[in-house]
Amino acid sequence: MSQSRTYQVRTYGCQMNVHDSERLSGLLEDAGYERAAEDATADVVVFNTCAVRENADNRLYGNLGHLRPAKDANPEMQIAVGGCLAQKDRGEIVRRAPWVDVVFGTHNIGSLPTLLERARVQREAQVEIEESLETFPSTLPTRRESAYAAWVAISVGCNNTCTFCIVPSLRGKERDRRPGDVLAEVRALVDEGVAEVTLLGQNVNAYGVEFGDRRAFSKLLRACGEIDGLERVRFTSPHPRDFTDDVIEAMAETPNVMPQLHMPLQSGSSRVLKAMRRSYRKERFLGIVRKVREAMPEAAISTDIIVGFPGETEEDFEETLDVVRQARFSMAFTFQYSKRSGTPAAEMEGQLPKEVVQERYERLVKLQDSISAEENRKLVGREVEVLVAEGEGRKDGEHRRLSGRAPDNRLVHFAATGTDGEPAEPRPGDMATVTITYGAPHHLVADSGIRAIRRTPAGDAWAVRNGRAPEPSGVLLGMPTVGAPAATTVSAGGCCDS
Ligand code: SF4
Repeated sequence: MSQSRTYQVRTYGCQMNVHDSERLSGLLEDAGYERAAEDATADVVVFNTCAVRENADNRLYGNLGHLRPAKDANPEMQIAVGGCLAQKDRGEIVRRAPWVDVVFGTHNIGSLPTLLERARVQREAQVEIEESLETFPSTLPTRRESAYAAWVAISVGCNNTCTFCIVPSLRGKERDRRPGDVLAEVRALVDEGVAEVTLLGQNVNAYGVEFGDRRAFSKLLRACGEIDGLERVRFTSPHPRDFTDDVIEAMAETPNVMPQLHMPLQSGSSRVLKAMRRSYRKERFLGIVRKVREAMPEAAISTDIIVGFPGETEEDFEETLDVVRQARFSMAFTFQYSKRSGTPAAEMEGQLPKEVVQERYERLVKLQDSISAEENRKLVGREVEVLVAEGEGRKDGEHRRLSGRAPDNRLVHFAATGTDGEPAEPRPGDMATVTITYGAPHHLVADSGIRAIRRTPAGDAWAVRNGRAPEPSGVLLGMPTVGAPAATTVSAGGCCDS
């Protein structure tokens, strides 16, 4: 194969897909492909699809249709479709879009380069779907999108059977990765400069079920706490049914595990939770929230909520609002229920009219936004250390700000100056200490200038990746009393990249 063939991976859906796409890119680069320029048509276009989102199939076939003229003009171009929708639709994809070259499933992403090659040699479409996992995706090569933050899969699949969810039928039963393998990957990432890892699984609290250790997840968090240079550990998603106190203790007692919890509620009504086949009730959910707050008063707790599940009454919905009022989430991802073919809920009676769902949804969003704003306003005046991010603030250039995440994962937009007003520009991956000056519902603002910058190996890794020279670590800005020795302290503006 020519060295110059280019590729593009288009990703839809959840973090698991984003992570799988990093593996797909890594596999293709290992096989000699190069990433295509943003505005170029790639020689190989890979769709990593999602079956959870509404109209996912229409969108996929629409996108495949858009690519057809390019494919007709260049028969050497190849199109591959993977991910959950491919696992679901299988051969149907090449029947509906015969110009597709490769279809692969969620269990065999490692086969992509071979399938592309086979399709080229045999000049016919290759459809290969496995029923169970071939290779744990984390053992495949990877091309990570970020120099300073990384996903680490600890498990794939799910043993639950939530009636609205297609994941169990497409991703299969839960498979747990061995703790030693997970920790080896985390250590290797830290050696490359990564400052933050997010442990990823459909239900992280069930981690260990496959190898018979119900405390495996809390042990894993504590073991991450032992890794030198690992600044921040997060995880997603937990499940209220399996959430145990040892996890709360491990979170509270492990300094690099961040004070943040994203725990899906889905509904506050016990009746609806039962119909969703989510085997916890409102009281248990609120009990976990209370314990987390007792152990970590600074913790930000966020959630996912589905409005308008089949059969949801006004009283059921009021129960959800009640949990929202009591839990005081920092943020909620709110969804209007809509049918997903292949799920039990799609066949249930009591599907609600769109207007009813819309009206409830708007009430929920209004309530949550007011709570988020109140909670965020409480942080005004507080000093936080922000991990500087790349691409998190759309209007940053316009406002001369940078953006990043506070320890509790709140998004902070901050002025790109020192406290003296001189320009300052920490690199993505560096840590900037700022004081919150304003709290909006969905973000915080810190406009009084950066009080200190901590140059990190993660910032160096970002600089190397972007063709810039690493800088001496420990340089401070604006606050000579914190952290590094005075000899490395320079005044605002003196150590910035700009
Ligand atoms: S816990 Fe429920 S919603 Fe989450 S992946 Fe498993 S079945 Fe789906």
